Amino acid sequence: MKKLSLIIFFITIPLLAEAKLNVVTTIPDLAALAKEVGQDLVTVESLARGDQDPHFLEPKPSYTVKMNRADLLIEVGLQLEVGWLPVLLTQSRNPKIQPGSTGYLDASQGIAILEIPTGKIDRSQGDVHPDGNPHYWLSPRNGLVIARRIAHKLSEIDPSHASEFEQNLKSFENRLMPKIGEWEKTALAFRGKRVVTQHKSFTYFFDWLGLQTAALIEPKPGIPPSPAYILSLIGLISREKIPCLITENYYDPRPSRELSERTGAKVLILPTSVGGEVGIDSYEKLFDHLVQKLKGVL
Ligand SMILES: [Zn+2]
Repeated sequence: MKKLSLIIFFITIPLLAEAKLNVVTTIPDLAALAKEVGQDLVTVESLARGDQDPHFLEPKPSYTVKMNRADLLIEVGLQLEVGWLPVLLTQSRNPKIQPGSTGYLDASQGIAILEIPTGKIDRSQGDVHPDGNPHYWLSPRNGLVIARRIAHKLSEIDPSHASEFEQNLKSFENRLMPKIGEWEKTALAFRGKRVVTQHKSFTYFFDWLGLQTAALIEPKPGIPPSPAYILSLIGLISREKIPCLITENYYDPRPSRELSERTGAKVLILPTSVGGEVGIDSYEKLFDHLVQKLKGVL
């Protein structure tokens, strides 16, 4: 009898493990949201780490292996991953997760996209936001929209657990909504301030909290600022008494340090994703961190 239950045990364990939906996301913020909604019904892995520039991830064979086993792939979209995801999708040989298939989700659908360009797009000039700004996960109000869409998608793939996904989504919303209220209240103290950033990663975050981008340290992403441009920035920072220069933590901080030395504006090096710094292991902790850091300098 004992032998029989052992056999049943070893047969059941792999079956149970397979019952979990295998979710792969391009960035850790989408993974954190998918985990909130899927809980123990899913395994979730992000391809990019939180301290990497999501525009320029180097494709690795291990990513293809993860994607080959995935039941669902969630991407940011708006061409954020255009430099590395299409080739991985082909190499994954997984028909379930190809764009248009049930196991594919472009999380940008349903988001109010900012900075949609109206003029000519020139990628050679570093235009990496051709469909509008893709850094929309940096507003927790958008996080609620994304989580809801993930819940619907998980229910579509696994209808037998739809009520659990819905319940998990509700719990997440009930936890995040009061936090959003707290962050907004804290940010009232620095509403309307103008800051300089390296890249337009914080567009949605600023739009949410009422901050403004006065200028960019790199006029085009990936292209270092020219000496003439640096001079014009020094003029602007001094004239407008810009209090801080924000650099994403995966960029070279030297241009902002140089500007800081010449203007007195403080340098703030910030993560843009869950896992971007030690201790930021949830979607809420990312905003706790960002709001506290800004409060410290503004
Ligand atoms: Zn960008």
